[in-house]
Amino acid sequence: MRTQLTEQQRIEQLRKLLEKYAIEYYDNDAPSVSDQEYDRLMQELIALEEKHPELDDPNSPSRRIIGQVMEGFEKVVHAQRMLSLGNVFNKEEIEEFVNRVAKEAKDPEFVVECKYDGLAMSLEYENGRFVRAVTRGDGVTGEDVSNNVRTIASIPMYIDTRERVEVRGEVYMPKKSFENLNTLQATLHLPLFANPRNAAAGSIRNLDSTVCLHRKLDAYWYYFQNARDFGLRTQEAALDAMKDMGFRVNPIRKVCKTADEIYDFIEEIGRQRGELPYEIDGMVIKLNDLEDQQRMGITAKAPRYATAYKFPAEEVQTRLLDIFVSV
Ligand code: NAD
Repeated sequence: MRTQLTEQQRIEQLRKLLEKYAIEYYDNDAPSVSDQEYDRLMQELIALEEKHPELDDPNSPSRRIIGQVMEGFEKVVHAQRMLSLGNVFNKEEIEEFVNRVAKEAKDPEFVVECKYDGLAMSLEYENGRFVRAVTRGDGVTGEDVSNNVRTIASIPMYIDTRERVEVRGEVYMPKKSFENLNTLQATLHLPLFANPRNAAAGSIRNLDSTVCLHRKLDAYWYYFQNARDFGLRTQEAALDAMKDMGFRVNPIRKVCKTADEIYDFIEEIGRQRGELPYEIDGMVIKLNDLEDQQRMGITAKAPRYATAYKFPAEEVQTRLLDIFVSV
C-alpha cells in the first residue's frame, strides 16, 4: 500500500495520522500507538517535509503543538509560549546538535538533565505567594489547574522573594503511585491506566481536586522563566536558585562540553533509570548560557538551544511490560 503513494500523498497521510494520534494522547489521555511508533512517523514526516519545502504547511503536526484546552478550567494565555523539544536518537545526532550550537555560541557548555515523562506545567508567584499553575495546552493557551496543583505536597505555596517568579517543569506520577493506582483500578474492576504519563495528565485535568490528592503526584522544576531578572546567567545557576527558593530540582544533571561527555552521561543515567522512582523517556540537552539561549531563539515549536535525546524503543517497552506484570 505504502509503495503506491507518492511522497506528497504520504506527507498528507502522515499529517492526518499524527494529528489523530496527538489528539488521542493529549486530549483523551488514551494513546492507540506507542511513543516510539509516533516518534518514528514524526521523523519520517520531518524528513519528507525537508525534502519537499514546496509542500510546507504551518498546520502540519511537525510545526505546531497539538493540545486542546479542556473545558471546565479557566483559560490562561502564557506570557511566553510553552514549547516542545526537538529530538535526537543517537550519538551522531547529538554531535550534529552540538556542532550546530557551536556555530552560534562561543565555547558552549551544555546542561544534561532527565527528561520526565509527565505533564509540562508553569507556576507563578507574586509577593512570595503561589498564584497559579497553568498547563502547556496548545503552547499559547493553557488551563488554570491551580486547585489540583495545590494538592501536590512538594510544591511550595510561599517563597522567600517578593519579586514575580515563574518556573516551569513537569508534574508526574511516581512509579509507586502508578502501581498503587492501577492495583486499585483492578480491584474496583475499572480500566487500567496505560502509563504514568496518561494517569498524571488525567489526574491534573480532573475537575474534582480530591482525585488529584489521592493520586499522589510529584514534580520537578527545570526552567526559571525570569531567571535573568535575578541576575542569573546560566541554566545551572537557575536550577540552583530554584532549589534555594524551595522548588524540587533534580540533583541528577551534568554540565558537559563535548558530545562524547554528553553521550557518556546519557548512557550512565540510561543504565540506572529502571531504579529511578519516576519514569524518564530520555535526557534533555540545554545550552548553559542564558544569553546565548535567547540569541539562538526558537523554531516553530521548539527552542534551538536545547534538544531531547530519546531512549531506544525496546528498553522502554520492556520497562512498561514490567509494570503491567507487577499490577
Ligand atoms: P516531548 O515530550 O518530546 O518533549 C518536550 C517536553 O519535554 C516539554 O514540553 C517538557 O514538558 C518535557 N520535559 C521533560 N523533562 C524536561 C526537562 N528536563 N527540560 C525541558 N523539558 C522537559 O514533546 P511533546 O511535544 O510534549 O510530546 C511529543 C512526544 O509525546 C512524542 O515524541 C511522543 O513520544 C509522545 N506522543 C505520543 C503519542 C502517541 O500516540 N503515543 C502522540 C503524541 C505524542
